[in-house]
Amino acid sequence: MPLTIPEIRKNCSIARLRMIQARKEHWAFGAFNLDDEATLRAVVQASLKKKAPVLVEVSQGEVDDIGLYNIRDMVDNFKREYGVEIYVNLDHSPSVDAAKRGIEAGFEFIHIDISMANHNASEEDIIASTKEVVNYAKLTGASVESEPHYFSGGSNVYNTDIDYEEIKKTFSTPDGAKRFIDRTGIDTFAAAIGNLHGKYPVPKILDLDLLKRIREVITCNISLHGGSDTPGHYFREAVKIGVSKININSDMRYAYRTALEKVLKDNPNETSVAKLVTKEVISAIQAVVESKIDDFNSINKMVT
Ligand SMILES: [Zn+2]
Repeated sequence: MPLTIPEIRKNCSIARLRMIQARKEHWAFGAFNLDDEATLRAVVQASLKKKAPVLVEVSQGEVDDIGLYNIRDMVDNFKREYGVEIYVNLDHSPSVDAAKRGIEAGFEFIHIDISMANHNASEEDIIASTKEVVNYAKLTGASVESEPHYFSGGSNVYNTDIDYEEIKKTFSTPDGAKRFIDRTGIDTFAAAIGNLHGKYPVPKILDLDLLKRIREVITCNISLHGGSDTPGHYFREAVKIGVSKININSDMRYAYRTALEKVLKDNPNETSVAKLVTKEVISAIQAVVESKIDDFNSINKMVT
């Protein structure tokens, strides 16, 4: 059943308050990618065990595969059945129309990223689209997230080292962040401080001094994308500085694939893949989510 507008507004208002609380109390929401029911179950089980509030998120690929309203309903069913504190984020929404549909479907968090569809989108185009989504989000009170340029990479495993000299050219700056936020009115700024989408042969390095300088000049929430394969100490420091949302995808997908490959190899005669996923794979994904919850300091922060 689709949520009514008053129900959506209530959820969005609670989500906004909880983001403020997270920053004050120095913890962050893990925003965990939802690929299917197995990944959702893994996130919910980790959330229950750790008593941690969580976000699940989908990008356009999952929206096309599962459907916006199916996603909202699946999450709401788990929320009701297990009594967890859980919100939904539309991640890297590639167009204003797609973002508007996410708002109408009752997602509490909307990340508008037109550079996903056009990597060379100008900052002016990004600002104009972001402003349109911020305005439309007043319908429900959904929180809007954005950033002024394309944030590269995907959820895959990359074999190349990270060229930090190249990456540094795309880092956020305190002035740039402030200007972008002032012009768009966003609720959450997706900072680029060394965080990268995907898994690499070397661990990621975050520039926490830069994060502090950005935090000092802006008032809105800060998120970090590309959290996989980042040493946990960076997150423990980042939440102290004031990051409120950290996205995780690749580490979960990697755990899913490696656990599935192993269990299929170990059980060549089992025809129920779903049974094997329930038995072996969900726990592997859950372990990843639990370790991130520890790093994000969101353990025991659940309110229902
Ligand atoms: Zn991202």
